[in-house]
Amino acid sequence: MNLEKLQAFVLSSSDYGESDRIVSLFTLEHGRLKGFARGARNSRKRFGPALETFARIDLQLNHKDGLSSLRSADVITLYSGIRGALDAIAHALYACELVDCLTPEGQSLPRLYRLLAAYLERLDSNHVDDADRRLFEINLLNILGYRPSLEGCSRCGSDFGEGGALMQEGGELVCRFCARTGKRISPSALRGLASCLATSRFGVIAFDPEALQSAGALLDESLASHSARKLKSLEFLQQACG
Ligand SMILES: [Zn+2]
Repeated sequence: MNLEKLQAFVLSSSDYGESDRIVSLFTLEHGRLKGFARGARNSRKRFGPALETFARIDLQLNHKDGLSSLRSADVITLYSGIRGALDAIAHALYACELVDCLTPEGQSLPRLYRLLAAYLERLDSNHVDDADRRLFEINLLNILGYRPSLEGCSRCGSDFGEGGALMQEGGELVCRFCARTGKRISPSALRGLASCLATSRFGVIAFDPEALQSAGALLDESLASHSARKLKSLEFLQQACG
């Protein structure tokens, strides 16, 4: 028996059979793993509300490759501030699904764990805005090694200068000499995203509306190219936040 005590966020949770649940967990110690919660649907006593999506929990489990078996789970926080506002819920579900979809199984990513914790705390205090979402996304891409080349052309290395960059498929950024077509990503968007990486603190970086839109187009394309599937929560986010 290999019983371990871990800290985790619940990324998603689904019913299994008559009485059990399978949860996707993002643990501080081992990164993403799948857990089997026997009897979680029948007995609320054992797990209580601890297996709700985006809850932060302490847990005990028998750690195995593939499917670990949950012994107990205690809530650290359910983020009740988030749960009272539809736009905050939409952003929290989206952040969790991004982590669920993009991170490798079984690899500890403590920086990403802290980033997700900081973002959920920000949403919990009823700060919901696009700049925070983009700060979360660019830092997530950076931690996972998927960051677009913000400083210069990914093909020839030259500075983008005041002309900005041209976006190619998958969010690749190139200069005007290396490609003739592509959506223009403005210099202010590139600078804003670089600042997001430099601080990784929420509520510090401001984007003007054009830069926010341009940065958003780049991040949407980059994230879509690294996601194995279309994110369910993205549609909900677009509906909830118009
Ligand atoms: Zn170039």
